[in-house]
Amino acid sequence: MDQSLQLVGEHPPLPLATKASAAAASLAALGFVVMVLSPNPPASLGWICLAVLIVSVLVSLRPILSEPAGIKNHYIMSASSTRRGVAAWAMGVFMTGFYVLLYFYPATLRNLIVWVDPIKIAISGESAIGSDGSVSQWFLYGFLYTVAVLVMGVRAIAKYRHSRYQIIRTLSVMFFQLGFAFLIPNIMLALNQPYYEWTNIWPLRYYEMFPSEVTHLANSGTVGITMLAWGIGSILIITPVLTYFFGKRWYCSWVCGCGGLAETLGDPFRQNSSKTLASWKLERWLIYSVLVFVFVTTGMLWANHLWGFLGSASGSFAKAYGFLIGAIFSGVIGTGFYPIFGSRVWCRFGCPMAAILGIIQRFFSRFRITTNGGQCISCGNCSTYCEMGIDVRWYAQRGQDIVRASCVGCGVCSSVCPRGVLHLETGPTSTRRMVV
Ligand code: SF4
Ligand code: SF4
Repeated sequence: MDQSLQLVGEHPPLPLATKASAAAASLAALGFVVMVLSPNPPASLGWICLAVLIVSVLVSLRPILSEPAGIKNHYIMSASSTRRGVAAWAMGVFMTGFYVLLYFYPATLRNLIVWVDPIKIAISGESAIGSDGSVSQWFLYGFLYTVAVLVMGVRAIAKYRHSRYQIIRTLSVMFFQLGFAFLIPNIMLALNQPYYEWTNIWPLRYYEMFPSEVTHLANSGTVGITMLAWGIGSILIITPVLTYFFGKRWYCSWVCGCGGLAETLGDPFRQNSSKTLASWKLERWLIYSVLVFVFVTTGMLWANHLWGFLGSASGSFAKAYGFLIGAIFSGVIGTGFYPIFGSRVWCRFGCPMAAILGIIQRFFSRFRITTNGGQCISCGNCSTYCEMGIDVRWYAQRGQDIVRASCVGCGVCSSVCPRGVLHLETGPTSTRRMVV
């Protein structure tokens, strides 16, 4: 069944800039594959590939900037790259394959790890290559992740340049990814302090409250104790207070690294989020199951730590969580399949932090999206581009406020509405017009 909510005709020839951009991106991807497979590739090959990749994104801005700002429904639901065609599957398989290698076979990416190692040493004072020849893949991942958010962030700003909200929000995720998720944690290492990603709040960073991590931070002096206090305070105080006032958007669309990647790298694929009732039902089952899973895992580890209760079973549980949720769900499926399932698979179906934020937003927050139903022309733009799979139009047609646990407050539904029907607002909880 067609879920696109749009009527589209045959695709016209692509602009030259779009073709050139796709060709350059393919060349860069090929170059990286050559780099991975070569016995001893020069570092310059990596920099050339990265430069070509960045240029491909900049070239793709030309058609965006030559037209009026905002989303265009120009055959987006029939193009191979944006509507689950061959090009989208090729991208999905490439990205998923990269994640599989990154998480489970990092040694195969050794040449890429060596390529960025001088940057790691310059920032953190440490090498990713151990004295025994082993390699750590996480700096490479952080580096590529940050570059993706920054470069595709520029693209998102160009696309949504008509919206002040979108510009500031995109600059915010770029700032937090570069500063608080990438540079500062690595600089802390150079200062002989624990590595700590300040923007990844428990339970998103699920191991942060495991006994081993808590003990490690508690034994790391004043800075470690400050990190521990920040971690506890951010979930117990900052999260409820900010979500009460602003909804979950303050985190999911302004601060979080996963949200940052979804809003930048994932933006071209946001229309692929399923709007079916079945996926809404699945979303609620899955996300709260993961939340229970992380609570049970953390509880079991503490029970074992304090009373020796459960023994190795607690460790096996933690390993299962790390493998199934931390690696497969959030990484391989959540990001690798952007071109197929849309940009927020992890945020919508799996993130335990989003589950907590969603409960607060649904029941205790001042945030809502108001709708002026009389103005709605039922074009469906809002539903089509809602990355969380919310059928926004359904609410708009009825003039009801949108108060959904899953809404990340990205504001794109409002930015793409041609009639100014949708407004992200705050006000007393009791004044929300909701379906019961
Ligand atoms: S309802 Fe609107 S603001 Fe909420 S997630 Fe969907 S597009 Fe974003
Ligand atoms: S709310 Fe706006 S974007 Fe959504 S269907 Fe109505 S007119 Fe179209």
